[in-house]
Amino acid sequence: MDTTHRITEVADDGDAILYHCEECLRQVVVRRSGGLTVLQQGDFFATHVGGHGPIEVSVSGE
Ligand SMILES: [Zn+2]
Repeated sequence: MDTTHRITEVADDGDAILYHCEECLRQVVVRRSGGLTVLQQGDFFATHVGGHGPIEVSVSGE
């Protein structure tokens, strides 16, 4: 199964960007300085795209 969810940017403080997926409620923080923090796991196996061009935050980082 190849599932793709679309995430939307909900907050941006200049360094960290908070993304939210409405489908599985996944929440991740992506830092421009590098790094990714998963706040809410959501659907671990879905590929998440959205924000500034396609970024994949599905598996890496945690
Ligand atoms: Zn999702």
